[in-house]
Amino acid sequence: MSHNEMDELRRQLDNVNTELLDLITSRAKIVQQIGKIKHKQSIKRFDPVRERKMLDELTGKNNGPFENSTIEHIFKEIFKASLELQEDDHRKALLVSRKKKPEDTIIDIKGEKVGDGNTHYVVGPCSVESYEQVAEVAKSVKSKGLKLLRGGAFKPRTSPYDFQGLGVEGLQILKKVADEYDLAVVSEIVNPAHMEEAMDYIDVIQIGARNMQNFELLKAAGDVKKPVLLKRGLSATISEFINAAEYIISRGNGNIILCERGIRTYEKATRNTLDISAVPILKQETHLPVMVDVTHSTGRRDLLLPAAKAALAIGADGIMAEVHPDPAVALSDAAQQMDIPMFDTFMKELEAFSTRK
Ligand code: PEP
Ligand code: MN
Repeated sequence: MSHNEMDELRRQLDNVNTELLDLITSRAKIVQQIGKIKHKQSIKRFDPVRERKMLDELTGKNNGPFENSTIEHIFKEIFKASLELQEDDHRKALLVSRKKKPEDTIIDIKGEKVGDGNTHYVVGPCSVESYEQVAEVAKSVKSKGLKLLRGGAFKPRTSPYDFQGLGVEGLQILKKVADEYDLAVVSEIVNPAHMEEAMDYIDVIQIGARNMQNFELLKAAGDVKKPVLLKRGLSATISEFINAAEYIISRGNGNIILCERGIRTYEKATRNTLDISAVPILKQETHLPVMVDVTHSTGRRDLLLPAAKAALAIGADGIMAEVHPDPAVALSDAAQQMDIPMFDTFMKELEAFSTRK
């Protein structure tokens, strides 16, 4: 084959490509018009019966060289792309997305403005065990100028035989301590029916990893006025995580903090695998503040500090960590909580990495 012949064939191919492009563009425009009519008439856009009919007509006319299955596959892709074009508006409109709202959401929790560019800390014991235990940690939290005190009253434990938390009594302890030290309470709620009652005691509703796709709980959190700290599910993709936040905001509550807390992988050296790149992805994709829980992600005291440094370096708005006056006797997560001297060092070491405007 001469060079000229090859060039000529390539030119023809380029022309066909352009024609194909023009054709699928015209097709898309017609589909969009149909979409508008269907929208007005509130008809569902995807019509499998109509698609089947179109595919049958095409394969009926097909004389090769492509197999019918190949023709079906190619056209199915074209149909899908057109359908996605109709649904694009819906997807762009995710209320948590930066496309919807370019500026950062800043959440005011008793004067602590999470998402304002400064570093924020959520610190406290894994579980509320007693007034004295929480007060001791609160004193240390306060002495460092921090505001957000955590503590689990309703504990979603993997085993039903493990300590389940003090329940409402735990919330009462948290509230009493927070009032005495002028702190704000972050605590997990596991049951939609507890939401109303919890409002009297807590400042931030935590939704735990095990409940990230508990849609009734998400809706209940979306129906109240308190900020929500939503943790990433044990095996949730970033997209599932974002959609869980969408459940909350779609009910009217946009004060959501996302918290990366590690995901399950094959790696056993850490309790979970801290997906550090989730932080900038979530910051890019959404307008919500993003925190990193260094305790549950690593499950190792020796990794809390380096993980926190990494989180701040990569753009996290805050850090969550567990502190217990005597971790060895803690009723949950004994292996990974810091004691108070360790917490002192942790905060000192992080000073250079924290932003305080
Ligand atoms: C917690 O923060 O108390 C907790 C149970 O964490 P997670 O839901 O991330 O496991
Ligand atoms: Mn814990």
